[in-house]
Amino acid sequence: MGKATGFMEYQRQLPAERPPAARVKDWEEFKQKFSQAAAQKQGARCMECGIPFCHSGLQIGGMVSGCPVNNLIPEWNDLIYKGKWKEAVQRLLKTNNFPEFTGRVCPAPCEGSCTVGLNDPAVTIKANEYQIIEKAFAEGWIKPEPPAVRSGKKVAVVGSGPAGLAAADQLNKLGHQITVYERQDRIGGLLVYGIPNMKLDKTKVLARRLKIMEAEGVEFQTGTEIGTDLALTQLQSEFDAVVLAGGATKARDLDVPGRQAKGVYFAVDYLTRNTRHLLETEPDKAEKTADYISAADKDVIVIGGGDTGTDCVATAIRQGCKSVNQFEIMPQAPLTRKDDNPWPEWPQILKVDYGQEEAIELFGADPRQFLIMTKEIITKTEQGQKVVTAVRTVKINWDKDENGRFVPVEVADSEKIWSADLILIAMGFLGPEAALAESAGLERDQRSNIKAAYGDFKTNLTGVFAAGDMRRGQSLVVNAIDEGRRTAAAVDQYLT
Ligand SMILES: Cc1cc2nc3c(=O)[nH]c(=O)nc-3n(C[C@H](O)[C@H](O)[C@H](O)COP(=O)(O)OP(=O)(O)OC[C@H]3O[C@@H](n4cnc5c(N)ncnc54)[C@H](O)[C@@H]3O)c2cc1C
Ligand code: SF4
Repeated sequence: MGKATGFMEYQRQLPAERPPAARVKDWEEFKQKFSQAAAQKQGARCMECGIPFCHSGLQIGGMVSGCPVNNLIPEWNDLIYKGKWKEAVQRLLKTNNFPEFTGRVCPAPCEGSCTVGLNDPAVTIKANEYQIIEKAFAEGWIKPEPPAVRSGKKVAVVGSGPAGLAAADQLNKLGHQITVYERQDRIGGLLVYGIPNMKLDKTKVLARRLKIMEAEGVEFQTGTEIGTDLALTQLQSEFDAVVLAGGATKARDLDVPGRQAKGVYFAVDYLTRNTRHLLETEPDKAEKTADYISAADKDVIVIGGGDTGTDCVATAIRQGCKSVNQFEIMPQAPLTRKDDNPWPEWPQILKVDYGQEEAIELFGADPRQFLIMTKEIITKTEQGQKVVTAVRTVKINWDKDENGRFVPVEVADSEKIWSADLILIAMGFLGPEAALAESAGLERDQRSNIKAAYGDFKTNLTGVFAAGDMRRGQSLVVNAIDEGRRTAAAVDQYLT
């Protein structure tokens, strides 16, 4: 450990972010790097606690606590304090294939369980991770390193999100020949079509990693849906093992009158089409991709107060919306931990994320409306088609019913009509799409995910494994990487 008293001498400091008023004018990333000296000081705040929960990745109170990929956080904090950046990146890459993704988009459960965080602001673990990997890329330390020997075994990976990519990367490094099949036109899963460019740059950051994987021998095949374009049985006969990492892409719908009107979309469709538009057209020109959905000059309502909803708020702002509101059915979280949510549990506290910051800057108020329920989408008819014009809502409280379960109870006389031209449904996901499982005879669990136990990741079909959101339901990039890595180990054991 570098500086025994660092946590007492230095305050937590985060790297600067581009100011909201400036960053909403473009689609560039808003996070910036530390100076080297600032990063070293932040590394020095790591205090050599007896039990570093930050790298435990345990489930506590039903939520993840600590880093799910078990990043060796105290070790690399110490190394960056000592200026040993090359050693720091070597430690980091031992546990995380893609720290450049998690360093940008991870909600950092590690920081919620950092021991300094018991009575002081936590160590800036996520920012340190970002700093280490970006320095490594800048110094040219991250180069393609194809395996010296090939095993002669072939593995197909279905789905190119972080779970599929991590599995492919690990198995390729072990010498197996990997082909990744992706139904979309681009590789990356939700890293490309989901998480917006201002959080994770597609052409600089994602493409940089994919280029390395290709140079290391991983083959990518886009535009191929397994179960439709190619049967799973064909993969089983051509490959020695198959990893299914197709994500949990079935969106939860809103069952209210008017839902089918023009102007109502699922959040992921909206975000996907916006990213495709950015990647395929010149942003300064008026041209649009055919399926582009624009929020320009529109009153936008985002239904769902989570991170996907926030991505929609930030995207609508950049497209030039007239107004934006974000509805959340749950109450506002407290500003500090409640007694029943102690350290080192994931802190369930109010977060003002980048989209809300931007809305506050532009429109003067947090766009989130809490304890609100959508009752109806009001429409008008234009050229024989129903088009959205407004949303009718009521306020609710959560009260216990006769069985002791919390249920929403409408507040009398709380009805409100909100003008709306564009409605984005960001209410979470219900699991993987059914088609592949049904056509291939894959067993599913009670939550409709592909059934496979964490640890061996085996499905009911011989040689077929499942990983990531497809196995566990919609989650986080860091969990997907963890699942990809562990599935790769299980596949390697099966093959060898
Ligand atoms: C809008 C949005 C924003 C998010 N932001 C964050 C964030 O900031 N931080 C964070 O940690 N997590 C975030 N998440 C969650 C995170 O992105 C996911 O948990 C993670 O990407 C899951 O990885 P995966 O590899 O399991 O699946 P996915 O990333 O969903 O990738 C699955 C891929 O499989 C493909 N596929 C599916 N079926 C087939 C088939 N039959 N044949 C071929 N290909 C197929 C799909 O097209 C897709 O590309 C976000 C999610 C959404 C929706
Ligand atoms: S991957 Fe996430 S949880 Fe793990 S160290 Fe990085 S920010 Fe923390």
